[in-house]
Amino acid sequence: MKNAKFLILRRIVQILILVLFFGGNYWGWKILLGNYSSAYVFESFYLADPYAVIQMTFAGVILATDIYIGALIIVLFYALIGGRAFCSWVCPVNIITDFAHWIRRKTKMNQADIKVPVKRTIRYWILALGIIVSILTGVAAFEFVSPISILHRGIIFGFGFAWTAVLLILLFDIFVLRNGWCGYVCPLGAFYSIINKISIIKVQHTHDKCTLCMKCVAICPERQILHMIGKETTQVKSGECTNCGRCIDVCDDNSLKFSIIKFKKNK
Ligand code: SF4
Ligand code: SF4
Repeated sequence: MKNAKFLILRRIVQILILVLFFGGNYWGWKILLGNYSSAYVFESFYLADPYAVIQMTFAGVILATDIYIGALIIVLFYALIGGRAFCSWVCPVNIITDFAHWIRRKTKMNQADIKVPVKRTIRYWILALGIIVSILTGVAAFEFVSPISILHRGIIFGFGFAWTAVLLILLFDIFVLRNGWCGYVCPLGAFYSIINKISIIKVQHTHDKCTLCMKCVAICPERQILHMIGKETTQVKSGECTNCGRCIDVCDDNSLKFSIIKFKKNK
């Protein structure tokens, strides 16, 4: 069996977080109460989604200081370990988008990618749009339509409409755009990409060990960031890396590994 260490670890973390939310709602566990936008941890402090907090603030909602502190903790935490680690290690939508990616690989659909005239930078415009619409409407715009919240509500209170969200993302990622939702649309992923730029954990590529099998590029949800494969020894500097570790999992040549950020150019 191929190495799937990071994949297994990620699924354990994602499912554990869901179970803790579920336990908080159904069995009164005090570990994680709330949802992905704002959670009360051990009944002692809050953790809050910084993008949701920004939207609510611009929408004119008065938030408690604890929520701002909770958002700051999240920014500092992800800025340190890699902003988009939220995407691959925490967000429940990632389980669906990874599944869509797996179907595309198994059915060789990736080889027949449709050329869609949209750039991945569109997600940053959607990020800004979420804030503008929040100002105009007085509600946190993305939170209203976020599949992350829909999925969370579905898991806690019964699926119902959440199935539609799951199906739409699945079909979109399979038939319209490879890594379509997370790589082009989701403003939360875009937000974490921005803070990911200063994170200290980066994927390191060692050119001398690489045999150019390209398995990493095939499995990476943001394959444009692996432009150094076959060219140079360096770190993946792009904030769009989700620190999912799948490239490391599939590399049989130990050419990729997690490392601490290097400010000097690799030799
Ligand atoms: S891009 Fe958005 S939906 Fe996708 S994993 Fe990240 S936060 Fe979740
Ligand atoms: S470079 Fe590796 S760790 Fe980063 S997103 Fe791609 S597969 Fe995941």
